[in-house]
Amino acid sequence: MKKQWLFFSFLLLSMGSVFADSCNAPPVLVPEASPKAMSFYHSGNILWIIQQVWSLAIPAIILFTGWGARLRNVCEKITRIWFWKTALFTLFFLIIVALLTLPLEFYAGYIRLHDYSLSHQSIGRWFYQYLLGTGISTGTGIILVWILYGIIRVSPKRWWLYFGLLNFPLVVILIFVQPIWIAPLFNTFGPMKNKELEHKILDLANRAGIEGSRVYEVDMSADTSRVNAYVTGIGSSKRIVIWDTAISELTEDELLFVVGHEMGHYVLHHMWWGILVYTLITLFVLWLVYLASLFFRKKCSRKMGFSDMKDIASLPLVLLLYMFFSLALTPLDYLFSRTLEHNADTFGLELTHLNHAAGTGFVTLTNKNLANPWPGDLYIIFRASHPTIGKRITYFNEYKPWCYGLPLKYGKFFRKDSEVGS
Ligand SMILES: [Zn+2]
Repeated sequence: MKKQWLFFSFLLLSMGSVFADSCNAPPVLVPEASPKAMSFYHSGNILWIIQQVWSLAIPAIILFTGWGARLRNVCEKITRIWFWKTALFTLFFLIIVALLTLPLEFYAGYIRLHDYSLSHQSIGRWFYQYLLGTGISTGTGIILVWILYGIIRVSPKRWWLYFGLLNFPLVVILIFVQPIWIAPLFNTFGPMKNKELEHKILDLANRAGIEGSRVYEVDMSADTSRVNAYVTGIGSSKRIVIWDTAISELTEDELLFVVGHEMGHYVLHHMWWGILVYTLITLFVLWLVYLASLFFRKKCSRKMGFSDMKDIASLPLVLLLYMFFSLALTPLDYLFSRTLEHNADTFGLELTHLNHAAGTGFVTLTNKNLANPWPGDLYIIFRASHPTIGKRITYFNEYKPWCYGLPLKYGKFFRKDSEVGS
């Protein structure tokens, strides 16, 4: 009798952590957004609209007042060499854009986040990161403009196609170097400090077929109290990064689900899918830019001060049209992103069976990040890269096919226990 009891309790214990949680745990209620979170949500929407209008208005003003053409004349006076003239124009143009957007950037990235107690970054550190980011994007921008205008000179009618296709390897290179050379300039990355937790995460990684050395911790607590984790890099630079705030704010099971979700992105090659869809959308956007540029050159070349796209003074027009059409196609981009995120959720649940912890983790995330679990339709269409938190918690409560003996969607990616550690 005693032996039987021991056997059953052993069976229950060994199954307990997995099955008691997912199959018998009560559903997690979707939290109500606090008044502070709703205020953050509403003011965020207004800020987003202002940012979009302003970022379109800047190149439009520079273009239609003829300032772009004047700036080109200044650059031509300094140098007649195409290579330097192009670089100089781009540099001046990007500095003007940076100066005109700085007040809004400072409000959105510093003042507002401090107002809502979401950031405790010092003003010096904010400016350091802002200047570093602007410097890197200006350098990258000049290289891209060299390539773009080099192609326009050679192929005035097909440049959109060649530049669009070239975009693919360029983005791959950028994503490859980002975690190695760029991200460490902003924050400190390293192996996980909590070795016991690291061991559990590496076990999970092993089960999902990921090499353990790909999990990093980043010191985001230096800047923010928000909680997050992400997958970055490509090929040999691919890795999972966990914010140290997530490690301190979430329970162990909650964190294991979040990491399981990230492992879904990793194993299902979402980075490659993302780059592919981005390249296709960009090709379409560049084609629209080309068509619209023909129209504008016909209608207002005198006002703009140039008649040929080879002229670097056309850069504000290219950027204005590119941003406009990109914004118009944002819903498509985000629809795809939400699908990938949903799949990563499915992967995370199937890997960990931690449905309840997934739900409570997102309750913490809602509070810590001042999120609105049920944003409006327009927000979802234009701004939501992830399914709403309300939808996600509801899904965590419902999706548990293993409780009913149903097949897993991603079961083929998981190593059996006997394979683990071998
Ligand atoms: Zn994700």
